[in-house]
Formats: sequence, structure tokens, C-alpha cells
Amino acid sequence: MDLLHFYNSLSNKKEIFTSLQPNQVGMYACGPTLYSDVHLGNLRTFISFDIIYRYLLHLGYKVRYVRNITDVGHLENDADEGDDKIAKQAKLEQLEPMEVVQKYTLGFRELQRIFNLLPPSIEPVASGHIIEQIALTKTLIDKGLAYVVNGSVYMRVREYNKTHPYGELSGRKIDELLNETRDLDGMSEKEDMLDFALWKMAMPEHIMKWDSPWGVGFPGWHLECSAMAKKYLGDTFDIHGGGMDLKFPHHECEIAQSKGSTGKAPASYWLHTNMLTTNGVKMSKSKGNSFLPLELVNGNNAFSDKGYSPMVIRFFMLQTHYRSTLDFSVEALDAAEKGYKRLMNAWEILYKIEATATAATELDIILQTHCTDAFQCMNDDINTAMALASMFEIASKINAIFDKIIPSHQLSTATLEILKSTFENLIGKVMGLNNEKTNSNNEAMDGALRLIVELRKEARDKKDFDTSDKIRDNLKAIGIQIKDGKEGASWEYI
Ligand code: AMP
Ligand code: ZN
Repeated sequence: MDLLHFYNSLSNKKEIFTSLQPNQVGMYACGPTLYSDVHLGNLRTFISFDIIYRYLLHLGYKVRYVRNITDVGHLENDADEGDDKIAKQAKLEQLEPMEVVQKYTLGFRELQRIFNLLPPSIEPVASGHIIEQIALTKTLIDKGLAYVVNGSVYMRVREYNKTHPYGELSGRKIDELLNETRDLDGMSEKEDMLDFALWKMAMPEHIMKWDSPWGVGFPGWHLECSAMAKKYLGDTFDIHGGGMDLKFPHHECEIAQSKGSTGKAPASYWLHTNMLTTNGVKMSKSKGNSFLPLELVNGNNAFSDKGYSPMVIRFFMLQTHYRSTLDFSVEALDAAEKGYKRLMNAWEILYKIEATATAATELDIILQTHCTDAFQCMNDDINTAMALASMFEIASKINAIFDKIIPSHQLSTATLEILKSTFENLIGKVMGLNNEKTNSNNEAMDGALRLIVELRKEARDKKDFDTSDKIRDNLKAIGIQIKDGKEGASWEYI
């Protein structure tokens, strides 16, 4: 596909992407509720949006990427009168709610650095946007689309449905929804079981609460995304995303709040990422089958006694299209590790092979076609799995040239340059897979390694072989081999 297409969950069709403003994209993705560390499933969704963001940047768009942090209001359900997830955790850890959020925000940022995710342009927190959420609620009340009861405010879903189709994103029908809805506390204060909370009255023991025209309370979870997306991206913006599990009720309610207040559809394209599963079951904290990405990196996990590079884990995720489920297993991760190494090796030897063809050859055409195909797969709803398949076709040809099975006179310098730029742009910049072997931009790492090698030399000079061997062996265990040569010691990644 020559033009970028997205599968739009709103139309359930693949559509050509056209931005509202030329060369500019506004994108909102629902971020994490930071009452705990984000698990591998959450990370998959954030990586998917990172690739979408990076690809839009690669295409030359100026992108404003907003991804929120939920620090208040995420209740298990509307009937829950108690604390939200953050406040519950704060009580458990005997911390202030803001301390809980700070702790897991720092962990989340570190995770993004380790897994090479670009930071969003704006990362707003819900508790910093109470004014905007109150204003949005007021507008909905003024329009007759929301009502106050006992200090809480609810969206009048049936009233909204008279002018806008409630359920347009998730495909749910009002009558079916009614059958599914249970009055969880037995005596709901809502006018209708379909209604959802915009603002909840806070009980005296509640920790996170604010003054509002309706008394002391806190915002409902769906409200924050509508309010913050509107503030930073306007009434209508290009892309709204999140995991598929957020389609209903979260995104459906967001649409109702935004459309109800402005009369306009908030986003042109709704993108939903599919779930990471283990043994076919969605990974989630509540199901008890979740684990942390760093447990895979440091080998401190139940499945394997070795650690995996964050880039291998990233690559593992990209081998599956973002709209398909991905089942985690150590076998699949081990296979991904092999594939990742093969790809990185091809990238590395690309700088060692010669290209001596004087005119365009058949091989040139084949390789250039694979390069074009790889980007066309990205245009086809960011199909990283198919794009990687094209890159592996290229990798096997590069290996054959390196091994002299294909003579270098079949490759032109022009094609070699195209291959280099495809690896750098697609694998490096867009997929965010660092070539750890050839990457020389990690100056801090290089500096630290130089120092370690020097310290080892000093130990050897003093005949302290225990220390010098310990340094060599420990580095080897983490994939760095020290080599002693005439010119002194050097290192290579193994
Ligand atoms: P949460 O903190 O629960 O609101 O989740 C943050 C993001 O992770 C949301 O976009 C969810 O849809 C997504 N998510 C949650 N569980 C999974 C999973 N098992 N696989 C992929 N994404 C997930
Ligand atoms: Zn959201």
C-alpha cells in the first residue's frame, strides 16, 4: 500500500489515513493507572502506540502525542462507593496516594527508557485536570445529558442516545446492555442502570477528593480522557487509541461525553490494540497471571533462569500484528531471540560486505522490492509482522553475500545504500530496535566499559588474577567478551 491505512474500529474497516490538518497529527492514547507497576501486557499496548507514533514521525508528520496517567477515579465499577484503585493501594502501602503514583510513575518512565519508547509530547495526569473535568460535567448537565443525585453526577445515556448512537464503537445495543447490567449494590441512585458516573460524591474517609458545585467528590475515570484530550488536542483530533479491552465501556463513554458536550466526534480514527495472553488468557493483574517486563530482563521469573534483552522482548512483540492476540511463552521468546540476533547480525554485516556491480542487477531489483514491500506493510495498518518478514528475506541475501555464496558483483552500491537506510529507518528509528552490537551512540556504556577494561588491566598487572578473571567472567555472563590483543584489551558483544 502506497498510502498509510489504519483499521478504524469505528467503521470496522481499513481506511486511508487523512489528517485533519496537513502534515499534523493529534493522537491520544489511554495511559496506565499507576497503582502498580505496568505488566508485560500493558507494555505491549504502549509499544504498539510507540511504533504508530514513530511511523507517523517517519512519514514527516508533526505529531502531538498525548498519553495520560490515571492517578484518580479508576473505580472497579460505578456502584463502588469506596476508594479508587490508587487510594486502595495507598492504604495498603501506607503511603499518600500521590506517593503511590510517583513511585509507579518513576518505574514506568524507567521501563520506557529500557524498552526504548519515545516519551509522549504531553503526559497529563487526571488529578491535575479537575477544573476541566468539572467544566465538562457542567456542560453535560446544562444540556440535560447529565443529572445530580446525592452529590454524584451521572450521564443520562438514553437521553444521549436520542441524538447520537450510544454503542457506535463497541457495537453494543442499549437493550442488550440493559440485560447485562446488574445493580451491583442493590439500591442504585441512578435514574437508569445504563447511566455512568461523571462525578462521584466522596465519603468522609475518602483520601482523594475535591470541591465541586455538587459537593466534595472525585471524577469518574472516563471523564479524564475526554477532558484532557479536548484540552490538548481540541474538540476533534485524528487518532484515539488504547487496548481493545477499553472499547467498552471506557471509550464508548468517552465518545458520549465528548459528543454530548460538543456535538462533534472526538476522533476520526479509533485504533485498538489486541491483548497479550498467557495460555490463551488475557494477562491482567486481577487474574493473577501477570508479570513484570523487568522480570524477563533480569531472569528473575518463574519460566526461565536466563534474562532476555529488552530489545528481544520488543522484537517478540513486533513479530505479531498489533490487532492480533499474542500468546506469551518462553519457547516463543527463545525463537524471537534467535530471529532478533539473525536480523541484527545482517544489519551489522551490511557494513562489511562489498558492492561491486557496475549496472543494476536482478539481485538489486529483488532487494529493492523487499525494501519497498517492508514500508508498504507498515502502510498497511502498521503490519510490523509482515514488514519483518520482508526484512528477513533481505537478511538471508545479505548473509549469502557475506558468505560469498552470492558474489558481490551482483550488488550495486546504490542498493547497498538503500539497504542501509532501510535498516536504519525501519528497524532502528521506526521499530526502535537498537543494534546493540554496532550501536556506537551509547557513549556512557562505552565509557564505562573502557574503565572496566582498564581496571582489569591494572588487576592483571598486579597479578590479581582473581579480580581480573571475575571481571572477564561477569562481563561474559551479560554478553560482553573481553579480548586481549597486542594493542591492548578490547570488547565485543556476544
Ligand atoms: P490499565 O492500566 O489497566 O488502564 O491499562 C493500560 C493499558 O494497557 C490499556 O490501554 C489497556 O487496554 C492495556 N492492557 C491491559 N491489559 C493488557 C493485555 N493483557 N495486553 C495488552 N494490553 C493490555
Ligand atoms: Zn482513556
